[in-house]
Amino acid sequence: MSKVARIPGYQSKNPKQNRGIIGDREIRFKCSLQNVILDVLRGRPGWTEVPGQQTSGLTQTGNQSRPSLQSLPPIPRNSDGDWDFYWCDREWLHQNYDTMFLHEHQKILHFRNHYELTRKNLMVKNLKRLRKQTEREQGKTEAQSFDFYPTTYELPSEYHIFVEEFKKNLGIIWIMKPAAKSQGKGIFLFRRLKDITDWKKGEYQPLSDQTRDVPETYVVQRYIENPLLIGGRKFDVRVYVLVCSYNPLKVWLYRGGFARFSNTRFSLDSIEDTYVHLTNVAVQKNAPDYDPEKGCKWSTQQLRKYLAAKHGVDKVQKMFKAIDNIIIKSLQSVQKIIINDKHCFEMYGYDVLLDDDLKPWLIEINASPSLTASGKEDYDLKFGLISDLLNVLDLENRLTGKEKRIGGWDLLWDDGPIVADDNMDCTPANGAAVSTPNSYLGCFNDRKKQLREIYLTAQSVKKS
Ligand code: ADP
Repeated sequence: MSKVARIPGYQSKNPKQNRGIIGDREIRFKCSLQNVILDVLRGRPGWTEVPGQQTSGLTQTGNQSRPSLQSLPPIPRNSDGDWDFYWCDREWLHQNYDTMFLHEHQKILHFRNHYELTRKNLMVKNLKRLRKQTEREQGKTEAQSFDFYPTTYELPSEYHIFVEEFKKNLGIIWIMKPAAKSQGKGIFLFRRLKDITDWKKGEYQPLSDQTRDVPETYVVQRYIENPLLIGGRKFDVRVYVLVCSYNPLKVWLYRGGFARFSNTRFSLDSIEDTYVHLTNVAVQKNAPDYDPEKGCKWSTQQLRKYLAAKHGVDKVQKMFKAIDNIIIKSLQSVQKIIINDKHCFEMYGYDVLLDDDLKPWLIEINASPSLTASGKEDYDLKFGLISDLLNVLDLENRLTGKEKRIGGWDLLWDDGPIVADDNMDCTPANGAAVSTPNSYLGCFNDRKKQLREIYLTAQSVKKS
């Protein structure tokens, strides 16, 4: 098969517009964010920023503050294909996707209805549905593989079911979270039903009250009261997952990531103290004794090494395998619902909480995980993450398309589980060998060396 024919979209039917395969010309990008992603795109050889593009967004680069996120007016329909790659924000996609014509070669961040997985209430709804279907078709034991999200109800719609459940488990702690907010906004914990009276007064208005919009949707979720603690502190783990296609499902897992610690020692005595219970950086950075230099992060490699030394390699491998299961099951739960478009890709940030038995719990999935760096190490992680994401997408057409590992990304699923190659140069940070699944979360990340090797191999494969 010729190089050109491999990605047909990269040729134009109109010879005047024929730019050949993208690998033969500059790649034009647009970007809605100003943070590490823009540094990566601007620094990538052969890539050029489309002039006059609008940036929205605005997070921070290093310590420099920028205006807060605002949505901008819709950009006119893209009919001339003036870009090849667009790292757009979700608002832009919502406003433009339905009226937009995408050329064969164009790649854009986000699937149209990504919220099916990234809104807290919808994620649980989809998981519950697949779980039920699995139980029906494959039995109870198989359905137990969905036991990775805490019991959750949508409010106000499931308020009465929640109350029944609440009464069966008096004394346990529940967490209330607005379904569509992030960064810990609007979250609170409670033990007694009367603790949510204020919330009910404020938000849970009867539908007959025409003066208000429909009440804000919340989820109420069983609070994990026994989190694994390190140094007395609670933490959760950020895992990066790349989906290039939903049909067939093609999933990559990034080796790097981090654990985010709370700043204050864990205790169930003060359930109203967000610095104890919420591990979001956005929350923790406001804690009075927060040290911005030190931050509250560990790399996933550091975490894996620590856990293996403390709890044993087998238990830790089992835990990481359970995280793979969370990733695959959650994506399968929306596989038939997501509008699969070959132009779209998604990089999710999974938030996973470990309990003191090393069981991972899925807390939430973000479609726009923060790409703002909190320090040098964080910058390097995110720079590598995005550079390798672009390597996986391979707009330059430098790879063979058969790679199982590209830099820090390992192919976890391609219409079925991917098995690791025996000769893969990867050992977990503790030195023990990993076998079977092609999954290396928290393993040594020798991405640059690996990239050199695969590009050389791909070159010789293509020549022959
Ligand atoms: P947000 O989108 O606002 O960040 P999350 O669902 O991620 O909301 O919750 C914020 C934080 O609260 C999490 O990072 C975690 O530390 C804590 N948290 C959320 N849900 C639970 C839960 N069910 N049990 C224990 N801690 C939780």
